[in-house]
Order: sequence, then structure tokens, then C-alpha cells
Amino acid sequence: MHELGITQSIVEICSAQAAGARVIRVTLEIGKLSAVLPDAIRFCFDVCTQGTELDGTQLQIVEVPGRGRCRRCGCEMCMDDFLASCTCGSIDIQCVAGETLRIKEMEVV
Ligand SMILES: [Zn+2]
Repeated sequence: MHELGITQSIVEICSAQAAGARVIRVTLEIGKLSAVLPDAIRFCFDVCTQGTELDGTQLQIVEVPGRGRCRRCGCEMCMDDFLASCTCGSIDIQCVAGETLRIKEMEVV
């Protein structure tokens, strides 16, 4: 479960950013193609924050749909997985969105 390592990094970054302030909420953006499971992150977040400054922090997850662009005709399309193909018949699709995980917002008091 690589989500645990990812969540640990997120918690570390947030703690460093907060610099002692109380963190109320953390918003994450998780791309559909990032191979990261939001439910697993939620679970790991509770585990990782226990006993830290982020204990009790609300975790909000925004899922970002995948988007791809055809390298042959330039057409953009929704991409649910890496097996997407274009209406022009090409399977040479470049992923343009939904591949990343990032911390979007952090609310502190
Ligand atoms: Zn195409």
C-alpha cells in the first residue's frame, strides 16, 4: 500500500507549513490516473496524524478526472485509464490531466 508513504509525506509537509499553527482542514487533489486510492489516503491520514499537530484535521479530497490529448489529431478526451484511444483511431494519447496528487489548500487558525 503505497498510500501510507504518500500520506506520511503529506502530513510532514503540512506540519512544516503550519509551523505550530492549528490545521483545521487539508484539501488534496487526487487525479483519477494517479493510481492513488482516495479511501486509502483517508484511512492512512487518520493513522498518520494521530498524536501529531494534525490530529483531528479534516481531510477533504477532490478527485480530478483524467484527460488525454491525441498526438496525431490533437483532439482532447476524457481518460479513465491509460488504455484510452482517440476517435481518429490513434492510441498515441498523451495524458494532460489527472495524473498527479497535490495539496490544494490548507486551512489554519
Ligand atoms: Zn486523434
